Amino acid sequence: MKTKEVLILPGDGIGPEVCHEAKKVLEHINDTKDLGITISESAVGGCAFEEFGNPLPEKTLKLAQRSDAILLGAVGGPSWDNLDYDLRPERALLGLRSELDLFANLRPAILSKYLSDSSSLKPEKVLDLDMLIVRELTGGIYFGEPRGRSDTNESAFNTMVYSKNEIERIGRVAFEAAQKRNKKLCSVDKANVLEVSVLWREVISDLADEYPDVHLSHMLVDNAAMQLVREPKQFDVIVTGNLFGDILSDIAAMLTGSIGMLPSASLNSKNQGLYEPVHGSAPDIAGKGLANPIAAILSVAMMLKYSFSLNEASSDIEIAIQEVLSEGYITHDLEGNNNKKLSTSEMGNKIIEKLI
Ligand code: NAD
Repeated sequence: MKTKEVLILPGDGIGPEVCHEAKKVLEHINDTKDLGITISESAVGGCAFEEFGNPLPEKTLKLAQRSDAILLGAVGGPSWDNLDYDLRPERALLGLRSELDLFANLRPAILSKYLSDSSSLKPEKVLDLDMLIVRELTGGIYFGEPRGRSDTNESAFNTMVYSKNEIERIGRVAFEAAQKRNKKLCSVDKANVLEVSVLWREVISDLADEYPDVHLSHMLVDNAAMQLVREPKQFDVIVTGNLFGDILSDIAAMLTGSIGMLPSASLNSKNQGLYEPVHGSAPDIAGKGLANPIAAILSVAMMLKYSFSLNEASSDIEIAIQEVLSEGYITHDLEGNNNKKLSTSEMGNKIIEKLI
């Protein structure tokens, strides 16, 4: 039987608080459904720097390489803002992404019908919104060479480069994700201006022959940004490069209201995955029991689905969360009845109650 080793990296700020609740949910579903998952924990980020002088200690990296899936809370905080670039907590995240070659970033933007008042768009525009952005994470203009300054320091340059292989592998992740959803894929590029986008469009179009059940369309990134706020429900899966995906996924995140609700996955070609809430370490509310643990718990649901193909267990968690929200229970970041506002651990417990 395939191993199911999960490494939890709680990190800093609210990371340990939300990971604690996510771990409770994972342990509960593992026990009741006998999923055979083993769980270990290690240090990452600012707390790892304090203990080991390194935000990504060797021991943590080795455990990460050996594990099948990683759940990360969040890293960073004001205590470490003045450290040298290489010692900053955020370097641990970049280190994990590059060491594990986590090239595919999956960010669902789902709006619970019980929270449509929390969105920045009118409720009818976002009611039942359920889309997925697949962003290429290890290539494109963020990594392309050459980059730098001219000799006279009068100009600066970066290079947007994608190989056919890089486009093909992210394309496959997106087509396969679309197959598991509503079978609609929109590839976003800037093919009217950029040569790299012309290649992107060619490679994605060629791949479409292998996925005849998926309807493929192409859209220019400026139009995609507009369409996301005009009519977001037209999208099922979007696939795009690193820079465009960075921007579009933040637009999509705002459509769903609170950052405390959004999970993400970063996958490599061996289906190893790093799962994490989209939010950061929220130092302003850390240690107060105010953090919403739902993004971390939904990250566990994504892990069960994408790393272990445990689709039923994954949707059990999603359904339990919807049930809790349908009864009006919320956390402090969400709009609603003050009498039903739960602390971080109360929310975790409520979700577990619904799983029984
Ligand atoms: P943030 O996401 O930590 O917080 C932004 C705002 O959202 C804050 O008001 C915070 O209280 C609130 N918030 C965030 N998550 C919440 C949750 N689960 N429940 C309720 N409210 C929540 O972003 P920031 O303030 O810009 O960054 C704080 C630190 O986190 C910085 O050091 C930054 O570098 C780091 N960061 C880490 C990651 C990561 O680990 N992946 C991502 C983003 C930022």
